[in-house]
Amino acid sequence: MMKNELPKIVFATNNLHKLEEARALAKGKLTILSLSDIDCHDDIPETAETLEGNALIKARWVKEKYGYDCFADDTGLMVDALGGAPGVYSARFAGDHCSPTDNVRLLLEKMKGVEDRRARFSTVIALIKDGKEQIFEGCVEGEISEAPHGKEGFGYDPIFVPYESGVAFAEMTPEGKNAISHRGRAMRKFLESI
Ligand code: IMP
Repeated sequence: MMKNELPKIVFATNNLHKLEEARALAKGKLTILSLSDIDCHDDIPETAETLEGNALIKARWVKEKYGYDCFADDTGLMVDALGGAPGVYSARFAGDHCSPTDNVRLLLEKMKGVEDRRARFSTVIALIKDGKEQIFEGCVEGEISEAPHGKEGFGYDPIFVPYESGVAFAEMTPEGKNAISHRGRAMRKFLESI
């Protein structure tokens, strides 16, 4: 590593929104590479039944096949009135090849007329660095709105209203979301550890 050069680490994702959020938090501390930056175009299977299991699968895949120190995140939206669904299946809630809009539409449909709208976002980050595996978690409590609001963010952001802000993630600035979000909280724990 050259003097003044930041340590590099791979984030096992090609989700540009996740990358932007992580890069903003790691600014000045780490250079974060994406899977395409290391020429990894594999469709990494996410077959575990827990967020931690899936985060570990992704991080181990990159370490074992490509040799890079890396971290991976897996995120779920747990809705109380739906018994914790979609949870670990949040990405495929509306079917195997569904879009984020399909997921949002289905969740709003299932929540139609439901009074108890409590939900939480949970992120687990698996880090593999210097031959060691570590897990970091972040969580944010809030409610599912009746309709989508805002244009920022991604995924379920238009319908998740954290208690701490009172407006949907998609109505917040990237900095505002990172300050209280599940991923922001898990990322800060990870960054403090290195
Ligand atoms: P995964 O961690 O990429 O598997 O994400 C699971 C699902 O949750 C996907 O449908 C994502 O779009 C969604 N998701 C992940 N992180 C966020 C977030 O920060 N806000 C809103 N939706 C998210």
